[in-house]
Amino acid sequence: MARVVGNIPPHGGQLVNRVLRGTLGEAALEKAQSYPQVQLTQMAASDLEMISVGAFSPLTGFMTKDDYDSVIDTMRLSNSLPWSIPVTLPVDEPTANSLKEGDEIALMDGDFLMGILTLAEKFPADVEREAREVYRTTEEAHPGVARLYRQGDWLLGGEVFMLNGPKNVEFPELRHEPAQTRRMFASRGWRRTVAFQTRNPIHRAHEYIQKSAMEIVDGLFLHPLVGETKADDIPADVRIESYQTILRDYYPADRVLLGVFPAAMRYAGPREAIFHAIARKNYGCTHFIVGRDHAGVGNYYGTYDAHHIFEEFDPGELGITPLFFDYAFFCKKCGMVVSSKTCPHSREDWVYLSGTQVREMLERGEMLPAEFTRPEVSRVLMEGVQAKKRDEQSDS
Ligand SMILES: [Zn+2]
Repeated sequence: MARVVGNIPPHGGQLVNRVLRGTLGEAALEKAQSYPQVQLTQMAASDLEMISVGAFSPLTGFMTKDDYDSVIDTMRLSNSLPWSIPVTLPVDEPTANSLKEGDEIALMDGDFLMGILTLAEKFPADVEREAREVYRTTEEAHPGVARLYRQGDWLLGGEVFMLNGPKNVEFPELRHEPAQTRRMFASRGWRRTVAFQTRNPIHRAHEYIQKSAMEIVDGLFLHPLVGETKADDIPADVRIESYQTILRDYYPADRVLLGVFPAAMRYAGPREAIFHAIARKNYGCTHFIVGRDHAGVGNYYGTYDAHHIFEEFDPGELGITPLFFDYAFFCKKCGMVVSSKTCPHSREDWVYLSGTQVREMLERGEMLPAEFTRPEVSRVLMEGVQAKKRDEQSDS
């Protein structure tokens, strides 16, 4: 394995690389034509990529039963390294019955051969326990739990190689892999880099949080998730344009890097905060911003559960340093963006809109209040949402 660049070692010590390129890849691809085929779910395709490029180091494949059980019950891999979310390859029972341990399997995204798996073990998923422990609910209204219930009942564990990157990727120029971001941070001279995970536009509150963090580190890695999300989240292309706009106009170019995080969203709240932090450590970040209700959905998690869960690990075990932030907003009396920690005034003085209010305003073609969102960003969002609406109307 190549020497790893960066100021923080990857999780488990080595940056995994399971991408077969060049003649090795071509030879493997030719052999794989005769393998039995398994269709990847959208999430499994994303996970295959994340494993292969090292974002999920030290995982080298989909989990076998030991790791699956251990992660669900203890938030640790079977070797006791912290890991909070199962990374599995679900299939239906007939598919599982058609395969035997030791088989080489072609991993398909439609008719596109994306990678190969050496089947180490097949075992039944324990969906209810996974829902209860990982998502903290067994309700089907939870989008992560709903996906769990929809998927196949059997899991295939074993090491993988990716032979072809995913098809039709969005933003290829922003899809920096962990080995690349480590070099990019080093070449900019950043010793300490803070990562910001988001699936939302950057409103003034997020800018405040990012810039507060930037005061104590060297650089910001703005790392929006563009993998599978809920249908009602703002479309990824609109979000990316809004990020580029705010970075251009309001951030020093030599202290920020924008990259996309191709992981699928689980909406597992606190457990996913740990998962997101570990992945960003693999990208070479030393610090990770954890906001209120990180990776949450609905009312399934307490506002600060994603902060408290970090207390269950010794700081040295995770390696990356979490930076916890409170609820931020513009306060008319303070005349600036503040948080519930720093503002003594009451709610009536705060300019705050819920995600639903934001969506409704943008759909009506209204600009968001300037105290809430920079006008440049507001315009991009409003025009993007309007264009999407026109497309949907002309399709129907
Ligand atoms: Zn105030």
